[in-house]
Amino acid sequence: VTVLGLESSCDDSAAAIVRLNPDGSTQVLAERVINQNSDHAPFGGVVPEIAARSHAERMDHLAREVLEEAGLGFDALDAIAATAGPGLIGGVMAALMTAKGLALGSGKPLIAVNHLEGHALSPRLVEPLPFPWLLLLVSGGHTQLLSVEGVGHMTRLGSTIDDAAGEAFDKSAKVLGLGFPGGPALEKLAAQATDPSRFPLPRMLAHDKSCNFSFAGLKTAVKRSFDALDAPADADRADLAASAQAAIAAHLAERTGRALDLYAEQNPQGRVLVAAGGVAANRAVREALVKEAEARGFRTLFPPLKYCTDNAAMIALAGAERLRLGITDDLTVPARARWPLDSGAASDDPLLG
Ligand code: ATP
Ligand code: FE
Repeated sequence: VTVLGLESSCDDSAAAIVRLNPDGSTQVLAERVINQNSDHAPFGGVVPEIAARSHAERMDHLAREVLEEAGLGFDALDAIAATAGPGLIGGVMAALMTAKGLALGSGKPLIAVNHLEGHALSPRLVEPLPFPWLLLLVSGGHTQLLSVEGVGHMTRLGSTIDDAAGEAFDKSAKVLGLGFPGGPALEKLAAQATDPSRFPLPRMLAHDKSCNFSFAGLKTAVKRSFDALDAPADADRADLAASAQAAIAAHLAERTGRALDLYAEQNPQGRVLVAAGGVAANRAVREALVKEAEARGFRTLFPPLKYCTDNAAMIALAGAERLRLGITDDLTVPARARWPLDSGAASDDPLLG
């Protein structure tokens, strides 16, 4: 099946066309992403109003561009998929409304995709990975561990109780005087550290036996350490960056280790850890995760960055997987700011949607 996917739930406007073959292999026939980083950089974070407006301006055009790039007309599509949540509601509406219009005009079915399901299924853009697998999703908006058992069957094992991992990087970077998004800049600065363990930072949720995450205390500790420096030199900033990075990586790895144990109890098959989201690009984070996984006989899969940050190929793929199971949506389906993947789990995650 061949599906057009649209994504606009945060600060990337994206469209892609994906073909899902009967054997589970996939081909991305065309893809376009327009990042809004430069629109938001002056404000140090994503501004919802600016995001919504530029998504709305770009969506329709992006859809037509990928069709042209793939050399396909609407008749070649089996469905049109769009992220319907969770996310910034004004942004989510841009892709969903465009998809509704295109579905109505072309007579093709509409598929409303949960953005998190898109992330969860994204490794299938790389290889026809059989279910189940454990997903660690670590981005600017999400930090959660999901046992991915099938399309529409995902169990949340843990999530952040305050900040997302990406926010921990971004906020620490801000303290250190780095620009937004701060994660990549902080990683670069940390590479110059001479004493990466110089600043003792707290171990988050040290006595908590769950698979949840917490990063709020870390940001405060980084700020306190920075303020305690008289005249911070570049070397001090590099050491603090490395200490913060190490603390974030250690926390992510420790919690993921716990989740791997829980997951392995429930799933004798599927010894694969998938790490997605912008933070999974971080070297220290990767190394810490691989260590936890290897110790338990798990393979670690890092989808290429373009498929583990926000993208439309994962939305098109999730749409195709749903269509294959006969699942489509009515044109009246609403955009949702919040939309937990497994409504059964305790929802203490303000960022979960
Ligand atoms: P969403 O949460 O909706 O998926 P997002 O735009 O916040 O969207 P991503 O694009 O996946 O998420 O990730 C962005 C986050 O990842 C930012 O917080 C950024 O600082 C962080 N990040 C990116 N690269 C690195 C890196 N090398 N090291 C640490 N953090 C990084
Ligand atoms: Fe995302």
